[in-house]
Amino acid sequence: MAEFDAIAIGGGLAGSAFALELARHGARGAVIERTPSAQLKVCGDFLSAEAQHLLSYLGLNAADMGATCIETFRMATGEQTATATLPFAGAGLSRLVLDEALLGKAQEAGAEIIRGEAATALEPAATRVRVRTGSKSFDAKCAALATGKHNMRGWPRTVGDTIAYKIQLSPSQAVARALDGVVQLVSYRGGYVGACNVEDDAVTICWIMDGRAMKEVGPEWTAHLNYISRHSSVMGDILAGAHYRSARPAAVSSIPYGYKRRAIIAPNVYPTGDQLSVIPSFTGDGTSLALASGLAAARAVLGDQTAQGFQADFLGRVRAQFFWARAVDATFKTGITRALSVGAMGALPPLATLVASLTRVKGVKEMTTDPTQ
Ligand SMILES: Cc1cc2nc3c(=O)[nH]c(=O)nc-3n(C[C@H](O)[C@H](O)[C@H](O)COP(=O)(O)OP(=O)(O)OC[C@H]3O[C@@H](n4cnc5c(N)ncnc54)[C@H](O)[C@@H]3O)c2cc1C
Repeated sequence: MAEFDAIAIGGGLAGSAFALELARHGARGAVIERTPSAQLKVCGDFLSAEAQHLLSYLGLNAADMGATCIETFRMATGEQTATATLPFAGAGLSRLVLDEALLGKAQEAGAEIIRGEAATALEPAATRVRVRTGSKSFDAKCAALATGKHNMRGWPRTVGDTIAYKIQLSPSQAVARALDGVVQLVSYRGGYVGACNVEDDAVTICWIMDGRAMKEVGPEWTAHLNYISRHSSVMGDILAGAHYRSARPAAVSSIPYGYKRRAIIAPNVYPTGDQLSVIPSFTGDGTSLALASGLAAARAVLGDQTAQGFQADFLGRVRAQFFWARAVDATFKTGITRALSVGAMGALPPLATLVASLTRVKGVKEMTTDPTQ
């Protein structure tokens, strides 16, 4: 006999959305989350309108959690800059706050939260799934693989060569003003960095370095930020004399940008969030995809759809979004295309507004209509 109807392995956005939606529909669900409490998580902390819409369906309001409002996208490379209006009002909210709030909502709805324990094995069988955590094991009729940027042993993803970092700083008044209502992206040889104001008067700085840049600049994060500051005075001004809120950044390696999990783990194991697909981070749509896929997987379980059908449907839904995201991502790779893309955006800001629309997850409105209503 299964102990649970469903288990989410990982209590990030995808796992919590999955468990919360199932619990709302009367399922006995559990979330296994390895961290004992909130932790700095690699993410630019930008929430698109779609992410906010999904969160509101799940019972959370970004503004009520202290999110800042972001309506402008500013791009720079070297000393070239361009500004465009976003096609929606975005929000700046740290994952420290957001992930805990969503996990709390899942618990309120009736999901059991098993906290501070890492799942060490996922063993699917014909009519159940067993998840092991050290000395314990849990059985369920189905599971969501929602471990995000971290792979479960035995269920790998493609390996990318990018490393990502995130740190928060307490800004000077001038920096807070310069970022007011803005998400700032700066591209450089080997990656890009994003910055925005978030709750609690903090600024989130999140950057990526590819393998070549890591060799050139070295592994030390302060060397990365010096390299980025030298490349662009926009970031140099934000980082000058910065007061960081932690001793070191959170980091994650081998990010497989563009990855889509097409292979099936088992008919009753639903990969969600970054375990299902990984969109280039500059789009700021990974959280929408995590929430949308967690929700869609829960709907699949409620509607007796197998993981195979769910994966095919969801990956079909994001096909065009990934196409545009990867096309724009390619322009960050050389100095000429970086300069051309910022130049094009400077000459024609609506182009950037259009790209921002093309790289959003589609179908959020239908997803946020309760299927049982
Ligand atoms: C550099 C960078 C910047 C980004 N910036 C943005 C942005 O600004 N806006 C945006 O929308 N998206 C952004 N993203 C994407 C976004 O962060 C991810 O798509 C999103 O976090 C995926 O959510 P998830 O729930 O799949 O995984 P995660 O948020 O990574 O959650 C996974 C959870 O699983 C837990 N876990 C892992 N292994 C185990 C285990 N074995 N047992 C139990 N628990 C486990 C982890 O502790 C974690 O809590 C960015 C990504 C990167 C790399």
